[in-house]
Amino acid sequence: MLNLGLDGSVSSILCLGAHCDDIEIGCGGTLLKLLDAGDDVRVDWVVFSSEGERAAEARAGAEAFLSGAAAANVRIEAFRGRYFPFVGTEIKEYFDALGADLEPDLVFTHLGDDLHQDHRLLSELTYNTFRDQLVLEYEIPKWDGDLARLNTYVHLDDRQTERKIETLTRIYSSQADKHWFSSETFRATLRLRGVECKSPSGYAEAFRCRKLVLA
Ligand SMILES: [Zn+2]
Repeated sequence: MLNLGLDGSVSSILCLGAHCDDIEIGCGGTLLKLLDAGDDVRVDWVVFSSEGERAAEARAGAEAFLSGAAAANVRIEAFRGRYFPFVGTEIKEYFDALGADLEPDLVFTHLGDDLHQDHRLLSELTYNTFRDQLVLEYEIPKWDGDLARLNTYVHLDDRQTERKIETLTRIYSSQADKHWFSSETFRATLRLRGVECKSPSGYAEAFRCRKLVLA
């Protein structure tokens, strides 16, 4: 197995999430690792749907995960949750503006075959918009049972793992009564992905990468 290092190779990152907590659950540990590795990383972070109390949580979540970034631009938008395919024109226009504005090295987005319609639309628009970027699709464990076979792994050390789990459960207190939102769910997902890639700590995040150019 050839391990390709992340240190120093990424200076700008775009994180796209349909709802608050998606980005943190999907790639929070990898972001902590990337920001640990590079001292000059800029992050743009967009949550497309979040309102009221959840918007405040989304801001706090972004802040906690981006404390190591040299610069961070967090946008919390208010597109109608669960209806993304039906307000697709506005969301597509939003992507057009993002594409005109940003040229990230790396984009994190939802899995293309995620069973949540909002997640799926964002993934599709990501590829429409960012055509010269490395795109990594992240997973969200949920009731639908759509965990997939993935192909790209990021080892997390114990500190990154614990920080991800602790931050998620501390900041998103409004989700505490959801049957799936628990430290056990997050730890179990990280542990299973760690098994698949023999992570030294036992923990990893996994992604799907559709296209990778080795120069
Ligand atoms: Zn979501």
